[in-house]
Amino acid sequence: MFTPLPDKPDHPALELEMLEVWEREQTFERLRERNHGGPTWSFVDGPVTANRPALGVHTAWGRTLKDVFQRYKALRGFDQRYQNGFDCQGLWIEVGVERSLGLNSKREIEEYGLEEFARRCREVVVGSSEALTRGSIRLGQWMDWGRDYFTFSDTNIEYIWKFLKIVQERGWLYLGHRSTEWCPRCGTSLSQHELTQAGVYQDRADPSLFVRFPLLDRPGESVVVWTTTPWTLPANVAAAVHPAEEYGRRESGEWVATSLFPDDRFVERKRGSELVGWRYRGPFDDLPPGSQVDHRVIPWEDVTMDQGTGIVHIAPGAGGEDFELSKVHDLPVLTPVDESGRFYDDYGWLHGVSTTEAADQIIGRLGETGFLVEAGLYTHAYPHCWRCDTPLIFRLSDDWFISVKAIRPKLLEENDRVQWVPAYMGKRMDDWLRNMGDWNISRRRYYGLPLPFYPCGCGHLNVIGSRGELAERAIEGLDQLEELRRPWIDRVPIRCESCGEAVTRIPEVGDVWLDAGIVPFATLGWENPERIPEGYGTGAARGLTKADLPDHAYWEKWFPADWVSEMREQIRLWFYSQFFMSCVLVGRSPYARVLGYEKMLDETGREMHASWGNTIAAEDAFAQMGADVMRWQFCSQPPDRNLLFGFGPAHEIKRRLLTFWNSVKFLTDYGNIEGFAPGWEQLEPTDVDLRPLDRWLVERTKQLVADSTAAYEATLTVDVVRAFDAFVDDVSNWYIRRSRRRFYSFDEAAFRTLWYALVQSLRVVAPLMPFLTDHLWRNLVQGGPASVHLAGWPDLAEPDTALLEEIAEVRRVVELGRQARSASRLKLRQPLRRLVTEGAPLAASHADEIADELRVKEVVFGEVEASELRVKPNLPVLGPKLGAKLGAIREQLARGEFEELDGGRFQVDGHVLEPDEVLVERVGRDGWAVASDAGVTVALETALDDELMLEAKLLDRVHEVNVLRRETGLAITDRIKLWLPDADLIERYRERLMSETLAVSVELGDLRIERA
Ligand SMILES: [Zn+2]
Ligand SMILES: [Zn+2]
Repeated sequence: MFTPLPDKPDHPALELEMLEVWEREQTFERLRERNHGGPTWSFVDGPVTANRPALGVHTAWGRTLKDVFQRYKALRGFDQRYQNGFDCQGLWIEVGVERSLGLNSKREIEEYGLEEFARRCREVVVGSSEALTRGSIRLGQWMDWGRDYFTFSDTNIEYIWKFLKIVQERGWLYLGHRSTEWCPRCGTSLSQHELTQAGVYQDRADPSLFVRFPLLDRPGESVVVWTTTPWTLPANVAAAVHPAEEYGRRESGEWVATSLFPDDRFVERKRGSELVGWRYRGPFDDLPPGSQVDHRVIPWEDVTMDQGTGIVHIAPGAGGEDFELSKVHDLPVLTPVDESGRFYDDYGWLHGVSTTEAADQIIGRLGETGFLVEAGLYTHAYPHCWRCDTPLIFRLSDDWFISVKAIRPKLLEENDRVQWVPAYMGKRMDDWLRNMGDWNISRRRYYGLPLPFYPCGCGHLNVIGSRGELAERAIEGLDQLEELRRPWIDRVPIRCESCGEAVTRIPEVGDVWLDAGIVPFATLGWENPERIPEGYGTGAARGLTKADLPDHAYWEKWFPADWVSEMREQIRLWFYSQFFMSCVLVGRSPYARVLGYEKMLDETGREMHASWGNTIAAEDAFAQMGADVMRWQFCSQPPDRNLLFGFGPAHEIKRRLLTFWNSVKFLTDYGNIEGFAPGWEQLEPTDVDLRPLDRWLVERTKQLVADSTAAYEATLTVDVVRAFDAFVDDVSNWYIRRSRRRFYSFDEAAFRTLWYALVQSLRVVAPLMPFLTDHLWRNLVQGGPASVHLAGWPDLAEPDTALLEEIAEVRRVVELGRQARSASRLKLRQPLRRLVTEGAPLAASHADEIADELRVKEVVFGEVEASELRVKPNLPVLGPKLGAKLGAIREQLARGEFEELDGGRFQVDGHVLEPDEVLVERVGRDGWAVASDAGVTVALETALDDELMLEAKLLDRVHEVNVLRRETGLAITDRIKLWLPDADLIERYRERLMSETLAVSVELGDLRIERA
């Protein structure tokens, strides 16, 4: 007996039940045991930042994809690691803790105490990692929970130290002095890749200022510049012009580029090169720093003529390109603001004012002193701190860099060997690798990887490569070294290896992407001589994980990863950092294949923001749609497009899944009535007499297995979903529909075939929908594997494609026949005389089925003359192809001057138009209903005669009787006695009435039924 199924699944309830079953039966552990020692498939998890109080739906998306492919590979017998990772350091963690403690600046953190601050940061990681684990388990993700890696472990840190030491030994490490993007709130510079994160560039309205600089040697004349950052004007040292462009002087004496002001009248014109060297009075020469500058006009080829005045204000202490120019032209560099973005003391009345607060005062002052030409507002995309959302400024900073010059060719070469899905993401990686600058690895913060750099006054840079090396060279402080972390590490001075003097560590911590980038080495035991059981849980990770520190042989076995997967923005972040580090350490990519995916938006296509009220908590999604439905939504998404996630799409998915559920319910309901009890060993129905339709479903099932396998191998879940949806449609709307009666009386071949098809389909979608499939598996399969997840992958067999194409064509004809019927508004129960179809020759041997499905008396395969063909250009496709010729072709099509070719193509005036380039409509002539698609046309004769109308009446009555059966609570198989008021029907169709209503007798009378 099958357990009777309710009308629809209660996803959340059955999922919670399955979680208990898996726990009780140790299903995952058994799966791992079974695959242990098998071929390996190496997946390396990109760490999720452990700063959130709960799993979010964004994270659930990525975790679903990771889980799907691990489950698929497990079904195929691959041994896997299943190690989950948490990112535990850096600004994400720090800023959250600052907020919770009400701290607003670095000074306040230091007053609070770095030791306490570090403990609070760790608490956040502990709480968040527990919550993320709970949410992931609820999602159905199978990982080796409890053996996770935490990037703040001392082991992880030591591995990065080792990497940095190698970088230094190769001469690629240097201290740079440059003007760089800076967050005044976080008090640190940011690296190039941090600026590429989502949400960094936001629209923002800034002042738009036109400012004149009076020329010292040309009285009454000035050069006019344009700026949107007033705070940089006190740091102005030069004005740049394009040497080859033309500049003109207005009557007012103001010089600007003429091309930018085509309507202005100019009294004098000069090339930019002629302006070079002119000296001018700076806008803030009344303040000490400006007063010492000899302001002049300089040439610069990069001055653009798209906005502003064509003359660019140059402040090397407050702009990246400006700083580079200062080196070329030997310009002074004024640094106006401190770490927190406030003006230094020597800026007089500006001192202590922030860059944003200063804007109004500066504009007011420029107005008073006559420098201001015009002030307005300007909206542009401006970079903000990815963590705290503060608008960034440029600031001069000494940062540690890794030079990328020497390794760049290797990076490009290795990236060529990686298989990127979708392919364009590989191109993005290539672009990034070609264009990225040196890697800024230092941050002026607290809770992060301590950079092991100890510069000595003697000129030697000491870099520590391991904890052991630190212990050897430490002068003091080892006993208090709880973790390799500030503040403890800062209390351990070492001896300079060159001169023997005591040296201290620089205060900076490392870019958080070093933490995640080292993972393919730190977690796999690269160059570690001996496995240390539970040895990864060191430093802050102590007590949080039982992960081993494996030995080098283990690394050899699991490196490189066969597959990694994250969002597209990780190209410049985690995909990049681990790639870079791996190429440095071992000269090869750390992964063979990548699946990237685009962004998640809400179901209307807007970004999700807590403040907009359109975010969805994973918790709510689990409770309201269920994890399987969420997963199905994630997996239905082509990775090259944004996912529009929400309850609306979930509802639609539930509706589609219900068709599948109903097919299973149909089998279990009738199976129970008929005592159908299949054995697992008889899975494939080879021992029963199959009818052609059964054989077709067997082949169709093999095709599902083949299509899904190809989709999984291409890491495209969307293709698995498509294959499954089409299969379910075939099972429900063709096989069951055409075989219904065989289930009312026990027809073993039908039961066995349907059971086989459903069981196999559960197996192929089990990775996507692990709960529902296992729930149904345990009902459908007796005496076989206890769980669908332990059943392995179905055998692959070449399906009979000829047969499949044949039936596909039959279904196409039937589908078009239905369309034609519905367009003609003829009710479905009205039989028709004739159907003519063209373009579906494979369907010819199935005329009876087509006639039956569409209620026509005759099916003719031949030319459809009953219709007129109308062909129009499909403008979005054909427009770009034809260009200017489009108009003429369109007219010719409208006049019917075209020739129809095979396969839905058309020829017009020498052009062959493909099926997707045209919109084809067949309009029935009088008395015919026509539908056509992709080269197949179906025409239905709509004229009715008395006989057809009588038969329609019969079918209406049969329908009424069946409704009546349901209303009176009779089972579908109960025999009845029937009374009908229609003498004509009883006389003409007595036998058919009896068989179609399961009646044992039919008498004349008011419509009623009785159980026989
Ligand atoms: Zn910030
Ligand atoms: Zn020294």
